[in-house]
Amino acid sequence: MMAASLLRRDKKATAAQLKADLNRTDDGSGARMLQDLLDCVLNPEMQAGDTEALEWCKCLLAGGDAFDEFCKTVRSYDNATLCGLVWTANFVAYRCRTCGISPCMSLCAECFNNGDHTGHDFNMFRSQAGGACDCGDSNVMRESGFCRRHRSKTGENVPSIPRDLLLMSEMVLPRFIIHIVQHLREGYTEPEAGAERDLQKVLQQLEPHISFLEELTKMGGAMRTVLTKILTNQQTFKDLSMGQEDNVYAKKNYDKYLAALKSSGLVSAEEKLYQQSGLCGMSLVTCFFLQEDQDGGQNVGQRKRVKLSSSTKDKSIMDALKHKCFLEELLFWTIKYEFPQKMVTFLLNMLPDQDYKIAFTKTFVQHYAFIMETLMRSHESDTMSNRIVHISVQLFSNEELARHMTEECQLLDIMVTVLHYMMESCLIKCELQDEENSRHVVVNCGEPLLKNNTYWPLVSDFINILSHQSVAKRFLEDHSLLILWMSFVSFFQGMNLNKRELNEHVEFESQTYYAAFAAELEACAQPMWGLLTHCKVKETQEYTKTVVRYCLETLQMWFDAIGFVDEPAPNQLTFHLPLHRYYAMFLSKVTPCLLTHISLPLNGLQIKGQAMTYVQSHFCNSMIDPDIFLLQVCASRLDPDYFISCVFERFKVVDLLTMASKHQNAVLEPEQERPMLEGALTFLVLLTSLRIHLGMADDEILRAEMVSQLCMNDRTHSSLLDLISFTNPNPKSGIIPGSCSFEAMLSAVADFKAPVFEPGGSMQQGMYTPKAEVWEKEFDPIMVVLRTVYRRDVQSAMDRYAAFLKQTGMHSGNPWPPYKERTPLHPCYRGLVKLLHCKTLHIVIFTLLYKISMDHPNMSEHVLCMVLYLIELGLDNLVQEDREDEHCHDSWFPGTSLLSNLHHVINFVRVRVPENAPEVKKEPPPSTSSDPAAAGQNLREAQVFSLVAERRRKFQEIINRSSREADQAVRPKASSGRWAPTPPLVTEILEVRESMLSLLLKLHRKLSALQDPFSPERLDEPPASATRRTHGDGVTAIERILAKAAAHSRHSRRSILELCARNAPPVPPRKHSPSDKKTMDKEERRQKARERQQKLLAEFASRQKSFMETAMDVESPDGDVAMDLDALEQPESEVLYDCVICGQSGPSTDDRPTGLVVLLQATSVLGHRCRNTEPKKLPTSDEEHIYPADTCGAVHDVRLTLLQRFFKDSSCLQSVSIGWDGGVYVQTCGHTLHIDCHKSYMESLRNDQVLQGSSVEKGEFTCPLCRQFANSVLPCQPGQATERGVWHGHTNKGLTVLVKEVEELQDQLGAFPVSAATESNLTKEMESVIKDIKNTTQKKYMDYGKTPGSPDNDFLFMYSVARTNLELELVHRGGDLCCGGASAAAKRSCLNQLFHVLAVHMRLYSIDSAYNPWTRLTSTCNGDSPEVPMLFRDVPSLLIIFVLTMPQPLRKEHFTCMVKVLYTLQFTQALTALCVRLGPDERQAWSTSGALKKGLANADRSWEALLSHAINELSRGRNVYEDDGDHMSMVGYPSSVWSPQSIEYSLQQFCLPFLRLSCLLQHHLYGDNLAGCPKEDEFSVLADCLGFSPLALLPSGPSYSASFLEWPVCAFDLMSQWCAEVTGLAGMQTLLVQDPQWAAPHLLQLPENYNTIFQYYHRKACSYCKKVPKDPALCLVCGTFVCLKGMCCKQQSFCECVLHSQACGAATGIFLLINASVIIIIRGHRFCLWGSVYLDAHGEEDRDLRRGKPLFLCEERYRVLRQQWVSHTFDHINKRWGPHYNGL
Ligand SMILES: [Zn+2]
Ligand SMILES: [Zn+2]
Ligand SMILES: [Zn+2]
Ligand SMILES: [Zn+2]
Ligand SMILES: [Zn+2]
Ligand SMILES: [Zn+2]
Ligand SMILES: [Zn+2]
Ligand SMILES: [Zn+2]
Repeated sequence: MMAASLLRRDKKATAAQLKADLNRTDDGSGARMLQDLLDCVLNPEMQAGDTEALEWCKCLLAGGDAFDEFCKTVRSYDNATLCGLVWTANFVAYRCRTCGISPCMSLCAECFNNGDHTGHDFNMFRSQAGGACDCGDSNVMRESGFCRRHRSKTGENVPSIPRDLLLMSEMVLPRFIIHIVQHLREGYTEPEAGAERDLQKVLQQLEPHISFLEELTKMGGAMRTVLTKILTNQQTFKDLSMGQEDNVYAKKNYDKYLAALKSSGLVSAEEKLYQQSGLCGMSLVTCFFLQEDQDGGQNVGQRKRVKLSSSTKDKSIMDALKHKCFLEELLFWTIKYEFPQKMVTFLLNMLPDQDYKIAFTKTFVQHYAFIMETLMRSHESDTMSNRIVHISVQLFSNEELARHMTEECQLLDIMVTVLHYMMESCLIKCELQDEENSRHVVVNCGEPLLKNNTYWPLVSDFINILSHQSVAKRFLEDHSLLILWMSFVSFFQGMNLNKRELNEHVEFESQTYYAAFAAELEACAQPMWGLLTHCKVKETQEYTKTVVRYCLETLQMWFDAIGFVDEPAPNQLTFHLPLHRYYAMFLSKVTPCLLTHISLPLNGLQIKGQAMTYVQSHFCNSMIDPDIFLLQVCASRLDPDYFISCVFERFKVVDLLTMASKHQNAVLEPEQERPMLEGALTFLVLLTSLRIHLGMADDEILRAEMVSQLCMNDRTHSSLLDLISFTNPNPKSGIIPGSCSFEAMLSAVADFKAPVFEPGGSMQQGMYTPKAEVWEKEFDPIMVVLRTVYRRDVQSAMDRYAAFLKQTGMHSGNPWPPYKERTPLHPCYRGLVKLLHCKTLHIVIFTLLYKISMDHPNMSEHVLCMVLYLIELGLDNLVQEDREDEHCHDSWFPGTSLLSNLHHVINFVRVRVPENAPEVKKEPPPSTSSDPAAAGQNLREAQVFSLVAERRRKFQEIINRSSREADQAVRPKASSGRWAPTPPLVTEILEVRESMLSLLLKLHRKLSALQDPFSPERLDEPPASATRRTHGDGVTAIERILAKAAAHSRHSRRSILELCARNAPPVPPRKHSPSDKKTMDKEERRQKARERQQKLLAEFASRQKSFMETAMDVESPDGDVAMDLDALEQPESEVLYDCVICGQSGPSTDDRPTGLVVLLQATSVLGHRCRNTEPKKLPTSDEEHIYPADTCGAVHDVRLTLLQRFFKDSSCLQSVSIGWDGGVYVQTCGHTLHIDCHKSYMESLRNDQVLQGSSVEKGEFTCPLCRQFANSVLPCQPGQATERGVWHGHTNKGLTVLVKEVEELQDQLGAFPVSAATESNLTKEMESVIKDIKNTTQKKYMDYGKTPGSPDNDFLFMYSVARTNLELELVHRGGDLCCGGASAAAKRSCLNQLFHVLAVHMRLYSIDSAYNPWTRLTSTCNGDSPEVPMLFRDVPSLLIIFVLTMPQPLRKEHFTCMVKVLYTLQFTQALTALCVRLGPDERQAWSTSGALKKGLANADRSWEALLSHAINELSRGRNVYEDDGDHMSMVGYPSSVWSPQSIEYSLQQFCLPFLRLSCLLQHHLYGDNLAGCPKEDEFSVLADCLGFSPLALLPSGPSYSASFLEWPVCAFDLMSQWCAEVTGLAGMQTLLVQDPQWAAPHLLQLPENYNTIFQYYHRKACSYCKKVPKDPALCLVCGTFVCLKGMCCKQQSFCECVLHSQACGAATGIFLLINASVIIIIRGHRFCLWGSVYLDAHGEEDRDLRRGKPLFLCEERYRVLRQQWVSHTFDHINKRWGPHYNGL
C-alpha cells in the first residue's frame, strides 16, 4: 500500500512532496494519496495518547517547512482586530467603567497598559471564572479604550494570504477533528452505566490533541478562518461523521454517538419525533414542557417531580438538535464531558472570528437547556458553573449578538423555560395560611439546587441579557413570557415559611434561611432591577402597565391558592413576597397620573389582605423599600380608620391602648408590649414620612442614603459605596459605584478625614464624616431607622448628633431626634395623609399622651417621641375636612381634622378594667359638675369609648359581608379566643377632662421639670429661632407643636392661652409613687449609668495607653511617668522594688531576688545597616538587583573570617563583636516583680491558656500590670545604691597610676569562684536568665569559633549581647548622642541590670593574662604571638570586655582611664586607615610636613606628627600600600585631595562611634546625664563628658581630636610597636581600612504605585522552586522573594517564609503579600497581619485587592512600620497574633 510506504518515510519530506503534488496535479491523485496517509495516521482504533499522529499532522500542515516557521508565517497574515485573549481563573485582568459598554467588559493587562485610561474609573480584578479580553470589540467597549495594537485596523495593511499556505491545513484538519470526535464518542460512558466511568482519563489522553487545536487558534485570524470553515461546514460533517461504509469501527462509534444523544433527551436527525402537546398549563412556546411523574400524581400537596421531556411543539428548535456540523457535535461532547478546561479554552479562543462567534453562539443557545440539565446532574457543579459562565459571558455581553439570538433562537423563551423547569424540580406545597388546603406551591429551600445555588449561571446569563435594552424590550413585549415569568416568581412567594409553634421560639437559624434569601435576591430581585432600568422613560409606560397587570393577576391567583380570606394566619411568618415587590416596584415606575387609573381594581378585597400580610412580615433590609412603597399605596387607598386599627392589631398592642391603669394582653408578655408599641408607632411614622418612590428624584434618594449612612458612622469610601449599592442593587440606576454623581454627592455632604496615626501605632483609614450643615439640616433619624436593623446604629447616629449639637453649642443636653419637614405628596398619594387625620389615630394619640402624662407603665420616651412626630406631621400636612365620609359615628372627636381635634376636650371615658384596678374604687363622677347637662352628655360619650378593638370587630363584619366566602367566615380560628375576656372585667367611667393640647402642656411641664414653664409668648417668637426649635429635647418638640398649632388655628391658640393661664398654679406632683418610677426615669437612669460606665472605660483605656507609650516610646526623652523605679533616685541605702504581683515593695536580696520584666528577642536590625544613608530600592524589573554584601552583618562576617584565617582563634574572638545578625535585644516595661511571685504567676497562666498567640511553655507572659508582652525576668542586683559614691568618686591620680591599678584589678580575674555551696537564689536566677538569653537566638548566631561551643565563643557572645544593646540604643537615639538624655531615660532601660548579669557570668571565664590586651595597650614590649594585631582589633569591643571582666563595681576613675587608653588605639587606627587611603604623593607630602612637628612639644598630641610617624612605620612593610587603587575604588572613597580640615573631619568620624559607645556605657553605669548638643559639637561634648582633658594651649575653636590624646607611654614607641605587628602581614589592607560608621537601618524603598510591584512580582518565579508561587511574598528588609505557604519550597516542615524570617531577621520577618497588598509580620512562632502601606485615593486599604483600585504608598504608614521594626515593638503594638505552625 502506498500510504504504508509513505508512513515509513521521513515526515518532513513526505509532507513537502504531498504539498507539491496537491498544488501541481489537478487529477486529485495528490489528494487521494494524502487521504490514504491520513487513514493510516489517524486510525481511530489507535490509542488516543499516541503522539505519532500529532507529529504527522504538524509536519503535514507545515508542508515540509519547520512547524515553528510555518506558525510564524501564518501569524504574519493575522488580520484580527480583536485581542480575544482567553484566561482562566485567578488571572489578573482590568475593567474600565468609563470605556465599557457592557458591565462585563474586561481587558488583559497588556491591552490595558497599552490603552489610555488616565482619569478613567477602572479597577484591576482577579478573574473568578475566567474570561477573555474585549479589546477591539466595539460592541462591548468604546473604541477610545482600545489599545494601540487593536485600535488600528490591522486588517487593512495585512497582505492577502498566499493560496497554498493553508492548503494542507484545509485538507488535514477536518480529519484531525473527526479523529478527536471519534475518541470522544468512544470514551464516553453514561454515568448510570455502572461501568467504571473515567472521563478524566479520556480527556487526559486527548489533551495533546486539543492543546494542538488551541495552539492553532493562536496563529491568528488566517488560521481561525480555516478552522471556522471546517467547524461549520455541513458537507464535511456529513462526509466524515459516519465514517466510510467499510469502516466497522467508525460505524460502531457513530452508534455510540446516537445513543448518547438519545439518552440525553436530545433527538438525532433520524429519530424525529413530533409530539404536539398542550400539557403545560401555561402558554409555553419552547421545546420543553413539563410532565409530572406518575407517582407524583395530581396531588399538588405532595412533592412533585418533573422531568425533561423530548417533546416539543416548536420545530425550529427541534431541528437544532440534529447536529449539522463539527462545531455542534464538539459542543455536545464538551457538555457531556462537563466542560473540560482545554476544550473551553479552544472554543473561546476562536471567538475573535466573527463568523465563528455567531455560529458558536447559536449552537450554544440551542444546547442551552441541555447544558443546564447537565449542570443540575453534575457532581462538580461549581467548576462546571464557572466554565459555563466563562463562555456565556463572552457571548451574551454583546448586545447585538444577544438581540440576534433572542430574535432567531428564542433565547429568552429558552432561558425562562429552563429556569422554570429547574425550579419545578423541587417544588413543595406551600403551607402559608391554610396548611391543608393550599394549592400554592413553592420551592423547597432545602434542596441542593437552592442550597448550593446551582442555578446561578442561568440567572447570571438572564440578568446579563436583560441588561440590553433591546432584549429587555422584547421580554416586556411578550405577554406569554411575562406570564411564565410571573409564575416562576410565584415559586418563591411565601417560601421558607417560619412557623411559630405555640409557646416555642421561632426558628430562624435553619440552613434554608440563606438559601431563601439568596434565591429571592438573585432569581427574583436582580432580574427585576434589570428590567426596571429600562422602564424609566415615558415610552415604556405601556410595558410597565403590562407587567403590573400580570403581576396583579398572579397575585390574585396566589391569594386564591393559599385560601386567603381576610386575615393572615397567626404564628406564620415569611420574608419572601417577591410578587408584591415586583408589583410595588413596577407600580412606582408608573407615572403618578396613571396610577389612579391602574390601581382602581385594587380597591377590592385583596389589597386589604396584602396590607395585612405585609404588616406581619417583618422587613428585610434589602427588600424594605418596595414593601414600604406598596404599603404606602395600600394605605393611601384604604379607609384610614381601618388601616390604623389594623396596624395596632397586627402589632398586638390594642389591649395596651386603654386609658385604664391596668389591662390584660392575651397575646404578649408584659415585657414585649413596649417594644411592640414602639414598633407600631415607628412603622406609622415610616409610612407617613418616607418619600422614597413617592416622587423623590434619584439624586435626592442618593443624598438621603448617603447622609443616613454617614450619620450612623464615619465611613470609608468603599464601605459607603458597598452600603449604598446594597440598598440600590440596580447597577444602572444612576448610582453607579464611582460615578460622577456619587463622588459629587459625597463631597457635597461629607468631609474627608485623612488617615491618622495614633502614637500606639494603630492605623486608621481615610474616612468620610458628615459636614456640619448636614447634621444641622439633613440628619434624618427616620432614614437611619429604615437603613439599619441594629438598634446600636440608631443609637450611634443619635450620639454623634448629640455630640455635634454640644460642640456647636446648639443644645447641650440629650437631644431628641430632629423633626424633618417632608415634601408635599403628589395628589394621588394624598390618601396617605388621611392616616394622620383620622379619628382612630387621634384616639390613639390622645390615649398615649394621657398615659404618658399619668406615668403609666410601658410608656417610653421613644413612644412620646413618635407620638409627637405624628402630631407634627399631621400639622404640617393639613387636609380639607370631609365630613360625609364617616363610617363610625362615635363622639370622641367631632371630625377628622387633627387641627380641630387638638383642642377638643374629652371629659369622660368608659374603660373596662380588671376588678383589682385602682379605678374600680373610684367614685363615679360627681353629678355636681359645673355643667350638669354637659356631664350627662359626657356619660353618653363615654359609652362609645370602644377604641380600636371594637372598631376592628365592626370592620371584620363589613369584610365578611362583602366577602365571597362570607359563609365560611365562621370557620373556627385559633385566635378568636383572644377577644374573649378571660378575667372578670369591670366597666368603669374615668373622668379625664383633657384635650390633646392640655395634655401636651402637661407633658411640657413634666419634661421641663417645672423649671421652664411654657409661656404664651413663645407662640409668637420670630421664625429666626427656628433652628433653636429644630434641635432640642422633648420640651422643644412640644413647644414647636404648640407654636404650629397656634399658627394654624385661632381656636387652638385661644385654648393654649387659656390653659396657660389656668395652669399657673402647679399641678400636684404625681411623682415618685413606686410604680411611677418606671419608664422615663428609668430611661434617664440607664443613660446616666451608660455614661458613667463609658467614662470609666475611657479612663481605664487611657491609663493602659499611657503605660504602653512609656514602655514603647524609645525616642521620647521626657520621663513623664516616673513609675515604680522612682526609688532608684532616692538616696537611701538600699533600692526598693515594687512587685506588681503581690504589691509588696522591698529590696532585691540574694534570698528573694526581684527582677525586671523583660522581653528578649533576637534581632538582625543592626546587621541590615548599610553605609549608604539612602535606603536600597526594591527591584521592580529583571534588570534591578539588590546586593547584600555591603550590609553591616556581611562586612563583619567577612572581617572575622579574614582574621580567623591568620590569627589564633581565641584572640580573634576577642577582637570583634558579633550579634549584628541574630543578636539578643533586651527590653523592659520597667516593672519589677519577685521572681518567686513570677513563678507562681506562670503556673497560673499554664493552667488557663488565656494568652492569645503566646505560649506559656516558651516562658511567654504579659506584664501583670501593663499587659506588655514579655518572656523573661532579669534579676536586679541587690544594694546597688550604697556603692554609688565609690563609683563616682573623683580622682586626681595620674594616668600611669590608674593604668597600674587597672592592671592589678584585672589580675583578680576569676577570683570569684562560684561553687554550689555559695550559690544563692540570685545567682541561680542569673544563670537562668543567661540560659534564656542564649535560647533567644539560633545556634548559628552564637558559634563563630573554630571549635563550636568553646568558652571563647561563649565569652564573645556574652559581651556582644552588651554591645548589641548599646548599639541599638544608639540607633534608637538617631545614631548619635546629640539629643542628650536625662538619667530618667535610663530608668526604662535595663542595660545596667543586664551588664551586671553579664559581668557576673563573664567572671567565670579566665583569660590568660599573658594575652591580656591591656598590657599591649599600656606598655611597649616584645613577644611574637599569633595574636590579632592591635590595629585590627575592634576598640569598643575591648572596652566592653574590660568593663565586664573587671571586679564590680568598677570605679569611674578606672573606667575613664580605660577609655582614655583605648582612645589612643582608636585614634591610631584612624591614622593608619587614613595612611592607606592617601595617595602615594600625598603620603609623601604629609610624611614630610608632619616630620617637622615631631620635635615640638606635645608632638604626641599633634595629628600631623603622628600621621607622619604612622606613614613611615607602615611603609616598612612592603605590602601595606600595595594595590591602593583597587582599594579606593572598592571602598568607594572619593579620590579628592586631602586638606587638614578634611583629615581632621575623617579622624573625628572614625573615632566618634567609639566615643558614643563609651559615653552611653558611662551613662548607664554611672547614671550621668547626657548633654544635648548641635551635631558639629558632638565630638568635643562627648570627649568632655568622658573626662578627657584637652591640651589647654589650644584655642576653643573647632576641637582637634588629637588634642584629647593621653598616652600612657611614649606615643611614637607604642605606635611603632602596633605598626610593626601588621607590617609583616600580606593582604591585610582591608582590615586596616575599616570604617566604623553605619547609616540608620532602613526597609527597602518602595515605589509610589503598588501596580509597579504587583505587575512584576505576581508572575515572578521563585528562584528556589522556579515556579510562580500561588501566594508570593516579598521580604521588605532584604527583597527576597518567597513562596508563602508553598509546599514547593518547604524544607523539613518549614515553609519558605518562616525559613526566610529566620535567616534574614533571626525569626523576625516583614513580608509584603503581593496578591493582597498586605504586610504580615512573623515574630518567632507567631505572626500577625500588620495592614497595608498602600492606600487608595480615599486613604483606604484594599486587602486582597478586591476593589482593584490604584494604590499609592503611604509614607507615613511605612515610616511607622520601619519604626516598629527598628524599635522592636511589633510584639507590643500589634495585638492579633496567632501561631503559624511554620506553615507560612
Ligand atoms: Zn488590545
Ligand atoms: Zn487583550
Ligand atoms: Zn477606560
Ligand atoms: Zn511579689
Ligand atoms: Zn509592665
Ligand atoms: Zn529578608
Ligand atoms: Zn519559593
Ligand atoms: Zn516555591
